[in-house]
Amino acid sequence: MVAITLVHGDITTMRVDAVVNAANNSLLGGGGVDGAIHRAGGPEVLAECRRLRETVLPDGLPTGEAVATTAGRLPAHHVIHTVGPVWDPRADRSELLASAYRQSLAVADELGAATVAFPAISAGAYGWPTADAARIAIRTVREVDPPCDVTFVLFSPEVFAAFQTALAEEG
Ligand code: ADP
Repeated sequence: MVAITLVHGDITTMRVDAVVNAANNSLLGGGGVDGAIHRAGGPEVLAECRRLRETVLPDGLPTGEAVATTAGRLPAHHVIHTVGPVWDPRADRSELLASAYRQSLAVADELGAATVAFPAISAGAYGWPTADAARIAIRTVREVDPPCDVTFVLFSPEVFAAFQTALAEEG
């Protein structure tokens, strides 16, 4: 069974095998947690993202998929970049959000990363309603095989509270 821990804080401080970045399709940086990871990780992270764009991902990283780079100056060993879906009130894109978590953990497994930190994917600029984003996150990582240690690092008190509720209900 996947062990889930919730932390209220900044994912860039986490000493884990891999931190997951809620990136965008371009992989070339953005705001929110993406900006924070690139700022703290330094130019090596962006350089490796650029190399991915020039080689295996010329059209960028598709939504729901994941890819790893160095963690640069972060205390983590790897950054796993994934892209969550933008919230769409007219379409159910939950499966893509679940896929972002699942594919990130598949990449972690390939890397031999047993401790993984996630932000609340899609719950910021991409507008996913917080309670639902938390429920999908907890449900999805719970089921993953092989199990590893997952820490959700939640930046805002509101999102932290939503994950606490979801963990109490789903855990
Ligand atoms: P998305 O575009 O997938 O919605 P965002 O980065 O806009 O991604 O937001 C995702 C979540 O990450 C939000 O809950 C936001 O508050 C949070 N966040 C922003 N900075 C950090 C950080 N340094 N560590 C952890 N979470 C963060």
